[in-house]
Amino acid sequence: VFFANQDLNKLIEAIYPLIVVDAIKSDQRVILELGEIPSLYIDAKEIRQLVLNLTRNGLESMGPGGCLTIRTTADEQNIILSIEDQGHGIDDNNLEKIGIPFFTTKDQGTGLGLSICNSIAARHKATIDIKSNQNGSTFSVVFRRFDMPT
Ligand code: ADP
Ligand code: MG
Repeated sequence: VFFANQDLNKLIEAIYPLIVVDAIKSDQRVILELGEIPSLYIDAKEIRQLVLNLTRNGLESMGPGGCLTIRTTADEQNIILSIEDQGHGIDDNNLEKIGIPFFTTKDQGTGLGLSICNSIAARHKATIDIKSNQNGSTFSVVFRRFDMPT
């Protein structure tokens, strides 16, 4: 692990082409809505992994024509990275199981993506907030402005 001050927006822009390559294969689009945010004390390698895991899940939840939005915002307390899909959503009875290692609803799934995201978030003292309904899901990674690891 290597923590340093990083521009999260730049990190997202750098991996955006990788995400788009996946999206295009399924005739999907990816939109960036990057707001004005302060730099974050993060491990860039881990946060890239977290973004890729969440965006991959978002794309996998949608059919052709779907659009994924990657957003960064900040308020007084938090810097928030959210990944919003227009996919099938998460069943109520699965909501508490996702993120448990090896839990997957996919034929070819490993069920490891979200548990890795949870570990990465924990190391950054961040939380992952999930909102989901039949129109799609939003995974928000909430970094605390004044509670970064040192
Ligand atoms: P995998 O993608 O290999 O199944 P993950 O840990 O990444 O493993 O995800 C676990 C499960 O959580 C998925 O199988 C799926 O049921 C659910 N899930 C995760 N992200 C989404 C999403 N964006 N939309 C709908 N379901 C999701
Ligand atoms: Mg996954």
